[in-house]
Amino acid sequence: MSLFKERQYVRIRVDREADDSLWMKCKACGELVFKRRVRENNNICPNCGEYFFLTAGERIESLVDPGSFEDLTAPIVTDDPLGFVDSQPYSDRLREAQEKTSLLDAVVIGRAAIDGVPVILGAMDFRFIGGSMGSVMGEQLCRAMETAIAEHRAFVLVSSSGGARIQEGMFSLLQMAKTVTVRRHLAEAGLPFLSVMAYPTSGGVQASIASLGDILIAEKGALIGFAGRRVIQQTISEELPQHFQTESFALERGQIDRVARREDLRDELALALGYFVEAR
Ligand SMILES: [Zn+2]
Repeated sequence: MSLFKERQYVRIRVDREADDSLWMKCKACGELVFKRRVRENNNICPNCGEYFFLTAGERIESLVDPGSFEDLTAPIVTDDPLGFVDSQPYSDRLREAQEKTSLLDAVVIGRAAIDGVPVILGAMDFRFIGGSMGSVMGEQLCRAMETAIAEHRAFVLVSSSGGARIQEGMFSLLQMAKTVTVRRHLAEAGLPFLSVMAYPTSGGVQASIASLGDILIAEKGALIGFAGRRVIQQTISEELPQHFQTESFALERGQIDRVARREDLRDELALALGYFVEAR
């Protein structure tokens, strides 16, 4: 616990009013689109169908029953155990990310219901240092699974992460083992874990907790892999298929169970959760 500082922060709010420009330009089709239309459309371009990034808050809102979400994200922040400096000190990078996102770290955890089924839900936020998993995310995910066990709920995790947080070195790699261990407790308690892989699910997150769902659903357009395409190509000196590391590539090889469009994701989760609900 000495890795963390106990701090009180403002809880996540999707601050819609602060953004006062009404229009945005779609980076895919170049069309000017009405921002509210885009938001109401799950952050999908109404003109060409391009997906824009969802923040953790928007992701949660798109999946859970209205008004059911209760934020359980623990008020902890990492303590920069290595005093790490790259192009800027890690502590500055953290503070900037916190100010930009109003989040403590790259994951939001909470109680919710999906189609009436009680769950503990975690959603990663790629804006926060690439959704990377450091000691705080590892701790939040473990607490989430422990809460799921204590309250007899399913665990749903939406990943959007570049992998381990390199600024925490070995401490970030340890989170892979830590989350996997608690995931096992969840399995021993007989509770389901539904893992949703969004763009991107890679590195240490893909190589640990995200791949360990009982049911693995990728959002259409997800990138799923461990190392980057170029690194692999250089290592094995072979051409890689065009759709390497796409959701369809992962599906063909049995790495995931389903691919769902963003607009269908909530229904897919409801369907999957339904299999685990006790018949009355
Ligand atoms: Zn578009």
